[in-house]
Amino acid sequence: MAVTIILSVVIPVYNEELNLPMLFARLYPVLDALGRRYEVIFTNDGSADRSLVLLRAQHAARPDVTRVIDFNANYGQHMAIMAAFERVRGDVVVTLDADLQNPPEEIPKLLEKIDAGHDFVGGYRIDRQDSVFRTSASKLINYVRERTTHIQMTDQGCMLRAYRREIVGAIVRSGAINTFIPALAYSFSGNPTEVGVKHEERHAGVSNYSFYRLVRLNFDLITGFSLAPLQIFTMFAMLCSAGSFLLVLILAYRRIFLGAEVEGVFTLFGILFFLISVTMVGIGLIGEYVGRTYQVVRARQRYHVREMLELTP
Ligand code: UDP
Ligand code: MG
Repeated sequence: MAVTIILSVVIPVYNEELNLPMLFARLYPVLDALGRRYEVIFTNDGSADRSLVLLRAQHAARPDVTRVIDFNANYGQHMAIMAAFERVRGDVVVTLDADLQNPPEEIPKLLEKIDAGHDFVGGYRIDRQDSVFRTSASKLINYVRERTTHIQMTDQGCMLRAYRREIVGAIVRSGAINTFIPALAYSFSGNPTEVGVKHEERHAGVSNYSFYRLVRLNFDLITGFSLAPLQIFTMFAMLCSAGSFLLVLILAYRRIFLGAEVEGVFTLFGILFFLISVTMVGIGLIGEYVGRTYQVVRARQRYHVREMLELTP
């Protein structure tokens, strides 16, 4: 007979060999003290270091409460979480980073809110411990997101969050690709709330997000949840055409009534280059959406699980 599991803790792991021992040492006592049946699901997202070895050892040490999903390659943090979401057994699901930037000791705070009846609890980082660049880039993208999508959250980047099982089910059924899990959860939630959580410096190692990956992730956030970029672009393009039309009228007038002239040829080049670059941005933007559509239509499996370490329930 399967025992009902109350809580599933989901942790994506990518090259975290230096952090895992400390994570195990801090996480499990917190969960044991909750007095609820729980499971921890780690997804090894194609780590090139000893992370999998450490996860295996932890599974051997605590087989009843530890499950490990082993990807064959690196599919990204959000896919790693998605794979765990597809397999969770708990009524409540908590996500958290493996690098101890989200202190496990804060989990009970989230559960309190769930117990109070909320179906999605987002953490926002108090006194965020990241570089000035990351923090200010975050502020900018927050601003853009608030204006282009319906998603309202203080801190989209914080992964310390709790979800009721129904929300996780909806996320899984959405079959989303290149997605942003907190934003997806927010859009399915009927009763979301937020709590402030501590944020620590990365225990060891450096962030797995390069500048390029951050740009991609945030682009996914906007294009995955809104058509506003396309619509804004169309409006801007209309303004440009109106301006160009006016320019043609002025030039025609001058040609007819003042005769041929060549002054201002560089101005014209300037205008032309500007319009060409606007066109290129437009093509790129359309490409983003076509690419997303292509990925969905192609319906290829989003990740591949090489091995599952778990006891059968
Ligand atoms: N992560 C992952 N796959 C990736 C990149 C990151 O599973 O391709 C995991 C990583 O191990 C960590 C979490 O996602 O548990 C957050 O990553 P990181 O700390 O590098 O991001 P940051 O805190 O800088 O946003
Ligand atoms: Mg981190």
